[in-house]
Amino acid sequence: MARPSQALIDLTALVHNYRLAKGMAPDASTMAVIKANAYGHGAVAVARTLEPLAPAFGVACLEEGLLLREAGITKPLLLLDGFFSQEELVVAAENTLWLMIENRRQLQWLLSAKPGKPVTVWLKVDTGMHRLGAPLDQAASLYKTLRQSPNVAGDIVLATHFACADELENDFTRVQINRMKALATELRAPLSMANSPALLGWPQAVSDWNRPGYMLYGSSPFATSHPHADKLMPVMTFQSQVISLRTVPAGETVGYGATWRAEKTSLIATVPVGYGDGYPRNAPSGTPVMVNGQRARLAGRVSMDLISVDVTDIHGVAIGSAVELWGKNLPVNEVALAANTIGYELLTRMPSRLRRVYVGDGRLTSDV
Ligand SMILES: *Cc1c(COP(=O)(O)O)cnc(C)c1O
Repeated sequence: MARPSQALIDLTALVHNYRLAKGMAPDASTMAVIKANAYGHGAVAVARTLEPLAPAFGVACLEEGLLLREAGITKPLLLLDGFFSQEELVVAAENTLWLMIENRRQLQWLLSAKPGKPVTVWLKVDTGMHRLGAPLDQAASLYKTLRQSPNVAGDIVLATHFACADELENDFTRVQINRMKALATELRAPLSMANSPALLGWPQAVSDWNRPGYMLYGSSPFATSHPHADKLMPVMTFQSQVISLRTVPAGETVGYGATWRAEKTSLIATVPVGYGDGYPRNAPSGTPVMVNGQRARLAGRVSMDLISVDVTDIHGVAIGSAVELWGKNLPVNEVALAANTIGYELLTRMPSRLRRVYVGDGRLTSDV
């Protein structure tokens, strides 16, 4: 039998979450953001599942876009982080990749390029995040120059990105929205602002194009309960099995560094999952792990291939008992909190070593 650790990817939940995102703004266009291997879920499988529903996909860069083209995905792909040379621009044009432009260097490349056909361009505007985007006071001039170029196809969407949309009490999102709406009105341009938290929590941020990512994978972008976000269904269940069980006498320790000590005679289950599979090494003792359908607690340090779990108070544990590291029964956000990070990071860094198994949406496939 194969090592019993895998990420089960529920494509029916993915479709449910996309529909929920779309339902937040039924008259707008809802791009599905699938950068970073669809936040660890497998970009090709995710794109194939959502292609009948989504008008376009967001990826980080040219390489991610070309992987999807090679897999036969034909919908437009927006390069969210832009492009970094004039050669990339020509390749992007050939492959119907949409370009995010944010600076004059990219503008010059575009104006002086000889693409085989005009390219679709979005203009990124910096409304306060100060990471990417043309400065607010230069955006109008860049926009007008782009609009006059024969290398640019059709409408140019104005895009911006929020710094604090997951904090529903933080007024900075309103400041960013107002800055962007003033510009879009001046230029009479289509607009794109909302990521997942904005789409769920800031109705004023909904515009012509929305760009949800994280919510599609079924976790809330908020730290606390939220009426819309709570309807999301986790897509990934990271699961394994108990492969060894031992009784550890009081006073003995478990794992590297001997950091966990049994306060009483304890039952310790060993699970073949470690940081080499994407389980965070900085998850401390006490981090929840589901064993045999019940909440148990991590005991001692996470190793590369293995963890130990204190199952002293868990009923019916045997070799072969089911383990869930996160997923349908244990939110990835909760494990992330214990490990001092966010669910986005845990999902995105899942390594290729961990098998992905796809279920739901009328198909049953293994790795794509
Ligand atoms: C990643 C990304 C998104 C999606 O953000 P989520 O919080 O995952 O919904 C949207 N827009 C841009 C520009 C991004 O880089």
